[in-house]
Amino acid sequence: MTSSLNVEQTRDMFLYTGEQMIKSKPYLTELDSAIGDGDHGVGMEVGFANANEKLRNGTFASINDIFKTVGMTMISTMGGASGIIFGTMFAGGIKGMEPLTRLDAGSLAEIMERALAAVKERGKADVGDKTMIDAFEPAVRALKESAARSDDLLEALRRAEEEAARGAENSKGYEAKFGRAKTLGARAIGHPDAGAVSVSIIFRSMREWVERHGA
Ligand code: ADP
Ligand code: MG
Repeated sequence: MTSSLNVEQTRDMFLYTGEQMIKSKPYLTELDSAIGDGDHGVGMEVGFANANEKLRNGTFASINDIFKTVGMTMISTMGGASGIIFGTMFAGGIKGMEPLTRLDAGSLAEIMERALAAVKERGKADVGDKTMIDAFEPAVRALKESAARSDDLLEALRRAEEEAARGAENSKGYEAKFGRAKTLGARAIGHPDAGAVSVSIIFRSMREWVERHGA
């Protein structure tokens, strides 16, 4: 049963997730090119490649250190609005939290719930605005429901993955309130938001790692 990860395993899960994001560059570029400026794949590649470099070379005393390293590296190396948005997805939740040495469904739900609040505070987007929030908010809701049911980490990540994918799919139906796609109006309908797809790949990758290696 996959109940929790230690610090080392959490780092390995993030390394794998970063690799999957880097591999997704062509797809994310294609999505952002359709309705945005086409730089999302490159931005995510830069952010996760730098984060992985830090994760490989650093030593980490807590789960919090891992999340902070990934998020702060994304903020400082990606630049722009999306660096802050995606960096805050990882670094925003653990701010002010007691150091954790195990990551389970409950702690992940708490970290991500706080992160969602921080991203919304920063970016002012809600579900339906055709941003990463379309995937992130339902994923966080699923994590909280799993935590309340005392699901194990793998089950919680399966639910989060499913809801994030559904949210990214739903983003196709929305007009954009932010970024370049905003100027397209109804012409953006039918295309998913690239950032929402990134969120679904992040949760899918976490689930894949835990399914294969979790203890
Ligand atoms: P840029 O918008 O600078 O071109 P990217 O293409 O890397 O940066 O990222 C765009 C993604 O960032 C969008 O697809 C969206 O998901 C996300 N995003 C942009 N603005 C916001 C916001 N205010 N709140 C939440 N997410 C946002
Ligand atoms: Mg872009």
